[in-house]
Amino acid sequence: KLVADGQLDGITPEQLADEFVLIDAKLDQDISAVVVDEGGEETLAEMAKRLRAGQNYLDLPNLAIPTEDGYRFTSEKFEPSNLDGEIVDWSRYTERLGPFDAPIRTAVGCPFQCEFCDFAQLYRPKLRSIESLLGELRTLAGSMPAPRNVFFADDNVAISQKRLTEFTRALVAERLQLSWRAFIRADSVDEESAELMRDSGCRECLLGIESGDPEILSNMNKRLDPDKALRAVELLDKNGINTQCTFVVGFPGECSRSIERTAAFISAFPSGDHANAIQRYYLFRFQALPLCPVSSSAAQRQRYQLEGLGEQWKHSTMDSQEALGAMRDLFLQVKGSSHMYTEIVPPDWSTAKTRAVMELRDEVKKAHLNNSPAAKQLEAELLESVQENESA
Ligand code: SF4
Repeated sequence: KLVADGQLDGITPEQLADEFVLIDAKLDQDISAVVVDEGGEETLAEMAKRLRAGQNYLDLPNLAIPTEDGYRFTSEKFEPSNLDGEIVDWSRYTERLGPFDAPIRTAVGCPFQCEFCDFAQLYRPKLRSIESLLGELRTLAGSMPAPRNVFFADDNVAISQKRLTEFTRALVAERLQLSWRAFIRADSVDEESAELMRDSGCRECLLGIESGDPEILSNMNKRLDPDKALRAVELLDKNGINTQCTFVVGFPGECSRSIERTAAFISAFPSGDHANAIQRYYLFRFQALPLCPVSSSAAQRQRYQLEGLGEQWKHSTMDSQEALGAMRDLFLQVKGSSHMYTEIVPPDWSTAKTRAVMELRDEVKKAHLNNSPAAKQLEAELLESVQENESA
């Protein structure tokens, strides 16, 4: 039986069911079974094997199976993640990968405890050995022409500065000719690590910076200094490494002043002719996730007068609807860097052309949002820059 209580008081079962499976079995009837475990790979793999063989899997441990009147739970069996033992042989999949990144893990979990993030509640941090990681990467290098595109699918590829150095040095020594990207904390980037990342084939860093306002960062327990974060973006750019920086809009304390600070912060990223690489940013609206510290602690909810769950919330300085307006304001205030969309860039475009087109595209969008008469002219310039033949 599942019991929801305490700080979730006042939240309806329907709201909870929107955020969780296992709350309302009737809504989950099209799910055959849910694997309930921190890792769960062993159960999932066995389930897939049995399904393929047409065998029964409902007697496996760690399953929650929807029934007419609730859930039936099978026995519990702790499955510690075995990162070192999970060596994928990429020679079996390279054809199917095509131009996409091979997703490879170097670790799970994150030792930080940002208030809006639930990752720390989901997994305990665990590192994979460098030997195991290299073993897997060699299967990729042995079966694919260079550069080999990899996405290190960790919550944070630099669990510590020491680990980042060790990891990038190993990639450099191995000469794997990778082109990799990963989530990384901005404060892990300094002169030395940026150069090592470049030399090991890093093409893009995904930096969760979250705000340009020190007070909001402190509320978030982000433990990040905006000046250091800006320095990280500059260092990565200097080394030709692209960045995608994410920002959370609407965290408790957010107001028009903090939005202005974040816009000024993003506007300071290298852009236009002052940039070597491409800086893009992405705005997320704050979500009161059920397991994140700020919404799962009664004291924090009280401190910020935070009510609601998921995408519907309000607190003492903003509500979820106002946050949408704040995102629009922020976008309109940013100069230079471009917002990130799901975009496919033609492979023959240079970095300079890609950056110019993306930045101009944002100007067109801003002109339309402002009903500016300049929109038509900007559109014509955008079309021209898209069609421009770089080899001419
Ligand atoms: S936001 Fe990033 S740094 Fe913070 S806890 Fe989550 S994964 Fe870790």
